[in-house]
Amino acid sequence: MRGDHIEAGAVRAAEPTVDGKASAALSDDHAPIKAGFWEYFFGGGKRYPSRYRFVEVLSVVAYAWVSWLLAVEIYSGAVRHPMVLWLVIPVALAAYVWADFLSGMVHWCADTYMAADTPFFGPKFVKPFREHHSDPLAITHHDFIEANGDNCFMSQCLLLPGYFFIPIRETELGTVLGLFTLLTSFGMLLTSIAHGWAHMAKPPAIIGRLQKWNLILAPDHHAVHHVAPHRTHYCITTGWLNPLLDRARFFHRLEKALGWIGIHPGVDAGIAEGRARD
Ligand SMILES: [Zn+2]
Ligand SMILES: [Zn+2]
Repeated sequence: MRGDHIEAGAVRAAEPTVDGKASAALSDDHAPIKAGFWEYFFGGGKRYPSRYRFVEVLSVVAYAWVSWLLAVEIYSGAVRHPMVLWLVIPVALAAYVWADFLSGMVHWCADTYMAADTPFFGPKFVKPFREHHSDPLAITHHDFIEANGDNCFMSQCLLLPGYFFIPIRETELGTVLGLFTLLTSFGMLLTSIAHGWAHMAKPPAIIGRLQKWNLILAPDHHAVHHVAPHRTHYCITTGWLNPLLDRARFFHRLEKALGWIGIHPGVDAGIAEGRARD
């Protein structure tokens, strides 16, 4: 909750708050990517396999390409239906809130379900989220591709159906839905960036101001999630929805509902077996 202030420096200015063993095991994550064009785009350096880097590069390119296609459709729709321009601000606000919700869903899912050794998804999506709890500063050393590749990959779940199935230029509603889809994907892209800024010791002045005004994820708000057992404050774009979702015990109830159909937290998620069912 916004009132639950934890000293922000605890997760952004200090060295990783882990024991020596874990710290040593994760120290490679602070190493810079090897220099050079080829290494930047296709080599993961010492940190992670090049095949993951390759997927990230493809995801960033696909994100830019499909976003552009969607933007062209939206422009054509707006020319045909200029009335939709009155809805740009409310649609942008709704998309920003929806992106915050999606960030919470993805974060909760990665923190809670599957195992770090699940093929592809484990090392690519699950492990980074769980390691982030013990090594919160590693994220501040990631470059653009590493920081945003996964979000660009996930954004395709919105962008591709949006482009292929929404009649964007044909109807007013289609144009509005297309705009909502595109702006939500922008919010998703902002998520990792805002999360990284929340862990920076000295973010740029303008970013510090946006954090202070709670227009992007604020460090003291996000610091609450970094207190074990990391079971609240999952939303990491703005964190606006966290007080609401945590008060409603939304994720707890979702875990309980999933438990009824036999889906339980991963054994290495650090969640007691019966916890999601009580
Ligand atoms: Zn987490
Ligand atoms: Zn964090």
